[in-house]
Amino acid sequence: MKHILIVVFLFTTVQFSAQTDAENLKKIYSNSLTNGMSYQWLDHLSNQIGGRLSGSLNAEKAVQYTKEELEKLGLDKVWLQPVMVPRWVRGAPEFAYFETSPGVTTNVNICALGGSVATPTGGIKAKIIEVGSYTELKALGEDKIKGKIVFINRPMQADLINTFEAYGGCSVERYAGAAEAAKYGAVGTIVRSLNLRLDDYPHTGSMGYGDLPNSKRIPSAAISTNDAELLSGMIALNKNLNFFFSQNCKQLADVQSYNVIGEITGSEFPNEIIVVGGHLDSWDLGDGSHDDGAGVVQSMDVLRLLKESGIRPKRTIRAVLFMNEENGLRGGKKYAEVAKSKNEKHVFALESDSGGFSPRGFSFQCSEAMLAKIQSWRSLFKPYLIHSFEAGYSGADIGPLKDDNIVLAGLRPDSQRYFDHHHAANDTFEHVNKRELELGAASMTALVYLMDTYGTETISNEVELRD
Ligand SMILES: [Zn+2]
Repeated sequence: MKHILIVVFLFTTVQFSAQTDAENLKKIYSNSLTNGMSYQWLDHLSNQIGGRLSGSLNAEKAVQYTKEELEKLGLDKVWLQPVMVPRWVRGAPEFAYFETSPGVTTNVNICALGGSVATPTGGIKAKIIEVGSYTELKALGEDKIKGKIVFINRPMQADLINTFEAYGGCSVERYAGAAEAAKYGAVGTIVRSLNLRLDDYPHTGSMGYGDLPNSKRIPSAAISTNDAELLSGMIALNKNLNFFFSQNCKQLADVQSYNVIGEITGSEFPNEIIVVGGHLDSWDLGDGSHDDGAGVVQSMDVLRLLKESGIRPKRTIRAVLFMNEENGLRGGKKYAEVAKSKNEKHVFALESDSGGFSPRGFSFQCSEAMLAKIQSWRSLFKPYLIHSFEAGYSGADIGPLKDDNIVLAGLRPDSQRYFDHHHAANDTFEHVNKRELELGAASMTALVYLMDTYGTETISNEVELRD
């Protein structure tokens, strides 16, 4: 009899809480779609401030702006966390052409890769050689490469449904191509933009030289996909094609910047911390609206939507706007370092850094038992067309928080259009849809609410009752 009573009691409790959860999710989504702030904040970040490369004046403006906006929300605490960041500047616009016969030139669209050195004053002109991949480059050796510009033409794989997988497949070419080519005496590298579409925008992104001495470092630039196709066609016709490019970028001394943090202190377990975040810095060619202005404003709105929906979290919820994800990850590393030095207990961290498109779900780095618990909330998300709750990558900025206990997650929006804009001049506000952005903010708030309500422990009542 006693057992039956317990079962009945549990059943009604579960029924009641499922109903409350559904009502709270409804409130969160309605608030975001009718009364959200993400779009307005993104408008300001994109159109009043613009691209926010680490160490730039714009990045500092974004720190001040987001801090002021968080202060208006009546949170328990808002503060700036100092962090030293690298400062790379692009300088004068890049210029490039190929030469089919002496004096006959065709201009192409390039941009310096972040972290690259400049060309010598007046630019570089040399024979160009094409390779299809990093592996092919390594196989060519000094004989073929010395004194030439290497054109690394590896298109993103079009038949992968998750475009981030296609991006991951080609990123070593962009990041490490120049350092590898330099070993064989190349004088520069031109890398095909990581964009699935054919268009005229060159896409920047970080590159590095590893331990290559300064004297051996060669300039590296990205070329638009249309021009990569054109150049490849011209090389096929003329193996002795000359290529010219000039760029004036420079690495300056590190400067002081900040992570921006806002917090709602937990009502029951204030020492258990949940982080929701995105990165405040961006590349300089566009306005960083999708990457990652969207993640920044969605994270800010999570705190606001919890308050607006009358939800008082049991645990401490922090929105962290990380600085310097793009070319250093210093903000993410600093946040984790401070958390560790203060012995803070982080139980869950969620990042949005995959664009402001329609949310499809989340991917998780956690135990199988925890993933199963999260997947049991699926039906609550069904009305909002959120269906994907899978194991997978979380986010760069929250990565340094990883330990055996924390659950890490990433918002997974539809990824088909993301690389049309990623790190390019067309990553601008008009390419972000208001409702898609707001649905993302609501989905993040809903997951944070459920994580806060049910915690990250995985020992369920059923298991406890078994003896
Ligand atoms: Zn990003």
